[in-house]
Amino acid sequence: MAKIKIAQYWGAGCGGCDVALLDIDEKILGVAEIADIAFWPIAVDTKIKDLEAMPDKSITATLYNGAIRNSENEHMAKLLRQKSVLMVSFGSCACFGGIPGLANVTNSKAIFDYVYKQTFSSDQKNSTATTVIPQVHTHMPEGDLELPVMYDTVLTLDNVIDVDYYMPGCPPTTNLINEFLGIVTAYLTEGKPLPPKGSVIASQKTLCDECGRKKAGKSVDKIHLAFEIDIDPEKCMLEQGVICLGASTRAGCGAKCLEGNQPCRGCMGPTAEVMDQGGSMLSALASIFKVGEGEALLNEDQILEIMQQVKDPLGTFYAFTMPKSIIKRTVTEKGKKKPAEAPKQEA
Ligand code: SF4
Ligand code: SF4
Ligand code: SF4
Repeated sequence: MAKIKIAQYWGAGCGGCDVALLDIDEKILGVAEIADIAFWPIAVDTKIKDLEAMPDKSITATLYNGAIRNSENEHMAKLLRQKSVLMVSFGSCACFGGIPGLANVTNSKAIFDYVYKQTFSSDQKNSTATTVIPQVHTHMPEGDLELPVMYDTVLTLDNVIDVDYYMPGCPPTTNLINEFLGIVTAYLTEGKPLPPKGSVIASQKTLCDECGRKKAGKSVDKIHLAFEIDIDPEKCMLEQGVICLGASTRAGCGAKCLEGNQPCRGCMGPTAEVMDQGGSMLSALASIFKVGEGEALLNEDQILEIMQQVKDPLGTFYAFTMPKSIIKRTVTEKGKKKPAEAPKQEA
């Protein structure tokens, strides 16, 4: 059997997804038996010009991790789409925007201003000289320099290209990666059909189904940060007043954070039934406050008071999914921003 070709690329991410692929230990040898690596910048010295020279659809599957944050991320996603039969949105940043997506609470100008003018490490902080901000085009005596355009809005991979499969997780677990490799191997060796296009390679259940903690239907009237109380490892976090996104999060990670007695932050993203993970979690919170069935117990002011205990609502409910949410981004300059567009940095 001829070997297949696979590629892995990172956009706006932390590199953890690349490491996760190496973390499959000896199974990587199985991958080497069926696949050659066509392109993987952190592991193989293949240049972009080599990728450009490959025939279209000559790569069997590309695992693209990281969000789309700048013009280079978008260009590479489109180039890899052109060269690949299957595109896998690999990890929460590619699937939902992930942690980089929280930058959608601001814009590129504010980020550049902060990083190059206001941080303590900025040489220019106390300088009276004109502040130097990286430019897309810079003419130097030695030649012209070019940098990618940083977008105002962080996008998901499927905002810019057609995606075949999604594998969420920050990063995807070894089990999910092995499941995907098993699917591809069974397709190649036994002719088993691939999952339908658009499938999510993960559980269809919620994390609450996977977590073994006891739920007693208890209501709460105070929200705590995880470090503020002594959390009972047997009982549901939410019923102890610690916000845990398990009810609106897809299972498949093995309830890793709960095992460490920490609440779920939602990195697996929403389940198939949930359109907006944060919105769904707000409904779950309403149920532990008993808003629906006992409105007489809490009035609007009391509910507001409880909600004000959530220190960072966007970071709590949309830590991994803001670009994929209904909100997508906050609007700071009325009339200037449109969700899911990629306004360009000034050249
Ligand atoms: S999904 Fe998580 S591990 Fe993967 S690149 Fe994004 S932040 Fe890193
Ligand atoms: S809310 Fe969290 S702690 Fe409670 S059952 Fe769901 S996953 Fe477990
Ligand atoms: S428990 Fe939640 S945040 Fe932790 S790994 Fe699982 S899905 Fe991600």
